[in-house]
Amino acid sequence: MRAIFILCCLAVLPAHAAWHEREAAIMGTRVHVDLWLEDFEAAAALLDAAMIEMHRVDAAFSPYKPSSELSQLNLRAAATWVPVSDELFELLGKARQVSVWSGGAFDITYASVGRYYDFRKGKVPDAQERAAVEAIDYRHVELDASRRAVRFAHPQTYIDLGGIAKGHAVDRVAAILIAGGVEHGSVSAGGDSRIIGDRRGKPWHIGVQDPRQDGVMVAILPLEDTAVSTSGDYERFFEADGVRYHHIIDPGTGDSARGAMGVTVLGADATLTDALSTTLFVLGVEAGLALANRLDGIDAIIIDAEGRMHLSDDLADLKGR
Ligand code: AMP
Ligand code: MG
Repeated sequence: MRAIFILCCLAVLPAHAAWHEREAAIMGTRVHVDLWLEDFEAAAALLDAAMIEMHRVDAAFSPYKPSSELSQLNLRAAATWVPVSDELFELLGKARQVSVWSGGAFDITYASVGRYYDFRKGKVPDAQERAAVEAIDYRHVELDASRRAVRFAHPQTYIDLGGIAKGHAVDRVAAILIAGGVEHGSVSAGGDSRIIGDRRGKPWHIGVQDPRQDGVMVAILPLEDTAVSTSGDYERFFEADGVRYHHIIDPGTGDSARGAMGVTVLGADATLTDALSTTLFVLGVEAGLALANRLDGIDAIIIDAEGRMHLSDDLADLKGR
């Protein structure tokens, strides 16, 4: 009897088990990959490759690893032109593009002051550290395409790719999966996800988190073939005297941005949705939605500082239907 039961289970296993997933803690966040593939060995190899790629991007762009290409650039670029990899040069170009679109709301040089926050220890920059606000300006990052080299025009300029690197890693992994024949899958690193295809006849469902109630969703989005990124002031923060200090910094002041609690951006690639979710958070409702509406293929949900939800035009039209 028991033998028959086991045989029955084995008979149904392959169909159910053709979804393969893996999870790991990388880039200071939870990385998750889910894919459909008939071939178990190929699936396992792709999951290995996905995690190796996440680690590679982390090793290259982490500001916490002294050996990373980013750390080396920060160390030297105020003094001299520093040749960089194609990958870093391209990413810096994309970051600059979003800075231009947003009038500097997205600005990787925010870290000139932002580096002095410690959200675990509850530390804000002191007056002297805050003075580095004058080193914040994306135009201080000079890019020389002919030499693929980078220089900082201000001695205190310091950059951090935390607002765009996870999306980049997600796109890189998605490209590996697609090249490996995956037609249905999802890749996420913290709040940045890329959905490949549908969930075999059904859409994928991505929740929009209530910024003030952990685990409660204010919306569930049915999605296919898209990238989605969320930025929130509940991710890394501390409170002092009733004020919330969190990790998304207004480059104009060096202080945490306070025009929103949560922003979700939808688009074709995660590098862009990642950068834009951070951007719209800094811009707030009015300027944020205006930018989303201006950009082709970009939609946004902004939860304002009072907890009200605002939608970009295309989403509002969808909801109204
Ligand atoms: P995200 O969770 O994608 O919104 O990214 C937040 C991260 O982006 C922070 O932890 C910082 O590393 C970085 N960041 C914060 N403020 C800015 C800004 N104004 N422009 C670009 N990157 C930022
Ligand atoms: Mg982001």
